[in-house]
Amino acid sequence: MKINFHKLTKKYGTPLYVYNANKIEDKYKLMKKSFSYIKNFKINYACKANTNISILKFLKKLGSGLDTVSIQEVEIGLKAGFKPKEIIYTPNGVSLEEIKKAIKAGVLINLDNLSLLEQIGNEKTNYPIGIRITPHIMGGGNKKISVGHIDSKFGISYYQLPHIKKIIKNTGLKIEGIHMHTGSDIIDMGVFFQIAERLLNVANLFKTLKYIDFGSGFKVPYKQSDSKTDLDLLAFFLKKKLSIFFEKNSSKKIKLFFEPGKFLMSESGFFLVKVNVIKQTTSTVFACVDSGFNHFIRPMFYDSYHQIDNISNPLGKLRFYTVVGYICESDTFCVNRPINEIREGDILCFRNAGAYCFSMSSHYNSRYKPAEVLLYKKKDFLIRKRENMQDLLNNMFEIEFN
Ligand SMILES: *Cc1c(COP(=O)(O)O)cnc(C)c1O
Repeated sequence: MKINFHKLTKKYGTPLYVYNANKIEDKYKLMKKSFSYIKNFKINYACKANTNISILKFLKKLGSGLDTVSIQEVEIGLKAGFKPKEIIYTPNGVSLEEIKKAIKAGVLINLDNLSLLEQIGNEKTNYPIGIRITPHIMGGGNKKISVGHIDSKFGISYYQLPHIKKIIKNTGLKIEGIHMHTGSDIIDMGVFFQIAERLLNVANLFKTLKYIDFGSGFKVPYKQSDSKTDLDLLAFFLKKKLSIFFEKNSSKKIKLFFEPGKFLMSESGFFLVKVNVIKQTTSTVFACVDSGFNHFIRPMFYDSYHQIDNISNPLGKLRFYTVVGYICESDTFCVNRPINEIREGDILCFRNAGAYCFSMSSHYNSRYKPAEVLLYKKKDFLIRKRENMQDLLNNMFEIEFN
């Protein structure tokens, strides 16, 4: 589908997030198909990637469940129409009170902390719980997004299984799920294979399982030459291992969960900005756009690469630009990159803007958050309006000083 970005920026202004529902659907179906050999295979969209309620509703329509990490995400999920048992809650470092709220909401819960496991067990609620295990495998694109290694704050160590068993014995806690999530942008098939092995080893220790949660970490391409997680290959790679386990346990109807965020959303999204001004210094040509890390922080936070196209001058001569924002802080989107000649007023389009972009945005410098548009069946739908001054002032109280 060719998207008319200019029409959209004329209609909605800039900066603007645009998501293509067709792409989300393609990715969902691709994953579903790759693992169709597992009868009870289920995808739970990791909604921290993008929590717009219309995106959640679209994924619900496709048949997805929801992976959440906060009670607020649980609540948005319920509002979007997911049933409690279609929502899985995998928090880290939250309070007992928050977990009790999730129990009250009736969602699936993965705990990743022995202390909480014990406390919930002692409540004697009989509420079944999943456990998040750290496999002690280094996987992930970089240290910031690798969460399964020995220094990680996530999960209960694989080597603490004997302790988990003691807690279960002492409290009568019922374990219904095993979960692992080892990071983001994993390209090494061997890592997934090791994770599967550890996951199934642990799963074999529990008799009351209803689900095994493989987590996520699937890599998407950020540029043409980039590698990605080849799902068909991964499915093929894991087939024997998974098939043996699920056949052996077929009477128990154990479900296999994946919880992708980036895989489903990243490539569906585009971020459109306008070039305010070109600034030539002694060493650099800066293109300064009407956004910054307040709207799009991944390049600064993760050093992530996002392709930037000048859609106002696609045939222009390639010249070298450092694209920066308008925030009073270093907010560099790319350094010295060849882009079709940029003129003041041109519209630039950032790729891979569907995941961890809007959801990480802030009000820094008292700028409004951008609008969001969803493209579906050749129509564009405004799914979040641009903010105004009232939105910034909403929760502030004005004190009068005499
Ligand atoms: C963030 C997260 C995911 C999604 O990771 P992606 O790399 O976006 O696919 C899945 N599961 C849990 C528990 C997470 O915290």
